[in-house]
Amino acid sequence: MQVTDAHIHVQPWWELKPEVLEVMTRGREDVAELQAIMKSPQHLLRRLDADGIARAVLVNYPSPDLMGFTHRVNEYVAEYCRAAPDRLIPMGGVHPRFAEDAAGEVRRAAELGVRALKIHPPHMAVEPNAYLHGLEALRAIYEEAQRLALPVMIHTGTSIFPGARSRTGEPIAVDDVAVDFPDLTLILAHGGRPLWMEQAFFLVRRFPRVHMDISSVPPRSLLRFFPRLAEVADKVLYGSDWPAPGVRSMGANLRDFQALGLPADAQTKILETNARRIFPS
Ligand SMILES: [Zn+2]
Repeated sequence: MQVTDAHIHVQPWWELKPEVLEVMTRGREDVAELQAIMKSPQHLLRRLDADGIARAVLVNYPSPDLMGFTHRVNEYVAEYCRAAPDRLIPMGGVHPRFAEDAAGEVRRAAELGVRALKIHPPHMAVEPNAYLHGLEALRAIYEEAQRLALPVMIHTGTSIFPGARSRTGEPIAVDDVAVDFPDLTLILAHGGRPLWMEQAFFLVRRFPRVHMDISSVPPRSLLRFFPRLAEVADKVLYGSDWPAPGVRSMGANLRDFQALGLPADAQTKILETNARRIFPS
């Protein structure tokens, strides 16, 4: 099986605010390897091979005021993934509160090779539906992504980084996005964990183009979080969120997921075929 980890963070760590980097690296024993990976795709490819991961989606987004990441993340991730375009899928982003020409920045990211966009409400301090209340740049991002057929991943659930606004991680606000942009492919990152799994599950069942990933849910607890996961297997992407705090190893997460004993066809969809459909090589 060719597993896709649809949610890992390979990011320009040198842009991070010191207090954020501290949370990112606290208690880890692999910081030297991670520092090398952030600068070198060859190091990442070796790590993916060792962990049994064929392909990975590299999640990036600008968050200059909270995290430190600037709009240069799009150049960074597009360039990084050029080392192995069949295995590394670049996800970038445009910040609706900082972009001067949001639609233009989406186009520019796509021209660079970015293949999907991330909106991170808790790290951008925006509601997913803030275009209903005057944030026109956010409407422009969704519209342009829909026109260019770029999938949009929206963080749902809490975040523990300094300054993160977890309230904006409530999935139900994405209901408006799914209604207003019916042809946009949406992915609810983390399925609303740990507070709002039922909202995420509802949206995934309600809208044909709304998916979710299971990243950052400890795989051994996954069926406690989502007892009916197999029912929505067509709409679920496997992901680890590595190397976020608490996520030690892509390989260990994958083994724990495979040990859950989900039906074989559900496993194949979640680990392999859904990601191939949304992120074709
Ligand atoms: Zn993440």
